[in-house]
Amino acid sequence: MDAYRIRSEPFYQSAGDEIALFQAAYAKRLPLLLKGPTGCGKTRFVEHMAWRLGKPLVTVACHDELSAADLVGRWLLDAEGTRWQDGPLALAARHGALCYLDELVEARADTTVVIHPLADTRRMLPLTACNELLAAHPDFALVVSYNPGPLARELKASTRQRFCALEFHYPAPEVEAAIVARESGLALDDAAAIVAFGVRTRRLQGHGLDDGASTRMLVHAAVLASQGVAPRRACRMAVVDALSDEPGVHEALRAALDASY
Ligand code: ADP
Repeated sequence: MDAYRIRSEPFYQSAGDEIALFQAAYAKRLPLLLKGPTGCGKTRFVEHMAWRLGKPLVTVACHDELSAADLVGRWLLDAEGTRWQDGPLALAARHGALCYLDELVEARADTTVVIHPLADTRRMLPLTACNELLAAHPDFALVVSYNPGPLARELKASTRQRFCALEFHYPAPEVEAAIVARESGLALDDAAAIVAFGVRTRRLQGHGLDDGASTRMLVHAAVLASQGVAPRRACRMAVVDALSDEPGVHEALRAALDASY
């Protein structure tokens, strides 16, 4: 599991009591659902917590082709014959890692069936293909993320009910400016101007946009600016042109940019 250990502290700017709440949930191995828009710091938070707890972290970015077998494992055929290879979920459960299933709702429906017995008091993972009922290691814990929204797929009630939820939002502007400055190396004032633009784009949410600029996008703009790109151009490249191709939305984003620079 050495490859899954996080050696140095991932920078995470806390916004409230989420570190203490994660620790309380982990102490009793309660599965956690992190809810919030994309690019608001959920993954960074899990990396930070894995580092704090000194546990390896196995992350899976879920997508619509991801199946139960991809998570659990499969038989492989090589020169020596067939051998079983644990998938990421089995690996984490067997060796006591945190398993982070990013955007679980994107995965195929059969994946939720396999996580259910792991996400309740049974803490078991049936490896049906190799006839093993894997009891999770005492250090194992499950964390999943979910980006709710009008266009988002719903998580099944039977899945939701197994998790405690922590809600994430984009940080307050001063905090977000500090994050963007720290992540990009840009001066705080310049980072604050980029964040002010980002906040304007978020007001367009619901008017053709699911979410406005994420913290991730604002970090990208700041990184470009730190490379000498003019801030207005950097915001155009990292946010306006990246967010939408829909002419009305694009126009509104450009107006937000005009109002900012
Ligand atoms: P999510 O998992 O919610 O989609 P990430 O955790 O990948 O988002 O965040 C995207 C980027 O935004 C991170 O790589 C980091 O640069 C920055 N970021 C967002 N929130 C924070 C935070 N609270 N502390 C530190 N960096 C953050």
